Amino acid sequence: MSLLIQETQQPREYQLPKGTNPHPVPTDTPPLTSEAALHFLSNLNNSAPTTITPSYWSLTPSVGQAQNTSPPPKTQWTKSRRTVTDVHGTYDVTLLTPAGLMTLQEEGELFDLIAKLNPFLAEPVKMFVWNQAKGGAYNPKHHSVHLGRQPFSPTIRLMDQNRAAMVHEMGHGLYQKGAFSQDADWDVVFRMALGHGNYEVIDDSTYLNISDLVGHPFANENEAFASAVHAYFLQADAFRDCLFNPQVPTSRRRFGQLVWLYMRDRVFKGQVFTSDGQDPLKNSDFASVLSKMNPDHWSSLRAALNDQEEQVQKSALDQLILLGSESVPVIAELVTVLRTARSPRRRQAARVLGLIGGPAAPLAVPALLELVAGPGELLRLVAIRTLGELGPEAIHAVPALIEAASEDSVNIRQAAQQALQQIVP
Ligand SMILES: [Zn+2]
Repeated sequence: MSLLIQETQQPREYQLPKGTNPHPVPTDTPPLTSEAALHFLSNLNNSAPTTITPSYWSLTPSVGQAQNTSPPPKTQWTKSRRTVTDVHGTYDVTLLTPAGLMTLQEEGELFDLIAKLNPFLAEPVKMFVWNQAKGGAYNPKHHSVHLGRQPFSPTIRLMDQNRAAMVHEMGHGLYQKGAFSQDADWDVVFRMALGHGNYEVIDDSTYLNISDLVGHPFANENEAFASAVHAYFLQADAFRDCLFNPQVPTSRRRFGQLVWLYMRDRVFKGQVFTSDGQDPLKNSDFASVLSKMNPDHWSSLRAALNDQEEQVQKSALDQLILLGSESVPVIAELVTVLRTARSPRRRQAARVLGLIGGPAAPLAVPALLELVAGPGELLRLVAIRTLGELGPEAIHAVPALIEAASEDSVNIRQAAQQALQQIVP
């Protein structure tokens, strides 16, 4: 799975069209027939073809906890086959692993996953090779998958790693052999991944409960796609929970929901993989949610914010509160509302600006300071709290907040102190 930080330095798993890949891709990726795979594996650590390095056994099969057991001197390879029949016809899937690495039951589990995922691929992945020295990788030329022995974390369980790597790498196969690498809509989703750390809701490491050094959905459209396949297909219950958990920032939840809809409607032909089969987004679809994000949508929101009719303004502001931190395109209009509208609308605009946070600061701070200096305790309180929500970017508000922090009103005092802590932590 791309899940290794080393892979960022020496990426092997993807080949994008020239000019779009930010990382250099080695051109010497060997073909992955099982014989060639053995050769490949043996060359990776410059040791004799069938010798296994002691560090291999730091990851105990089936348990996965770091242990110092002594290594066997030689590796014997197990080649397991399963015949699969699906939309692609009848074909063999091959799994090549060091003998004893997995139990038959565990191999069966991996075969089950492959059989479940292959029908969604434009062509099935038939060859899976345990890669002695590296992490997971997808080979686009041979449409084969490497599984890696290198642990992402010393405490991750081996089978958790195997399942995650297999699904993530098949996700790359799905992206590169399917039509998805040409899909402008996925590019839009990817751009959203980069804002506000949204990608974390599909980051593989989020669901493997390990350090943040692994998974890189922020790297490019292909990586975001593979991570999204992992989240949607393999971690369906956990992914779903994140999409509706108020502890997850609004922006990440909304991004995750869009990914969910894309995966369901475009990639997995309407199927959901939650254990209870429930789909909390069954009344939405990707196309209509995406269309709300198009430029026309923003220009109509802009017009609504400038409307003299208060009810029109209110409904635009209600929508923006739901959009939260994605409301960046209308910051200027929100600041105008903050300066000129009636008090309830000003408070709503302040709330949206607070949800946007730092990016709103340059335009919003002067307007908020005017409110802090103005009359009306409620509006002053809202302005002070919003300055805090803007965080360190609201540094220019510090002198006014220090002044407010010594006022007679307990409410103003406490709000100012809290805002100062948010701005200068
Ligand atoms: Zn990857």
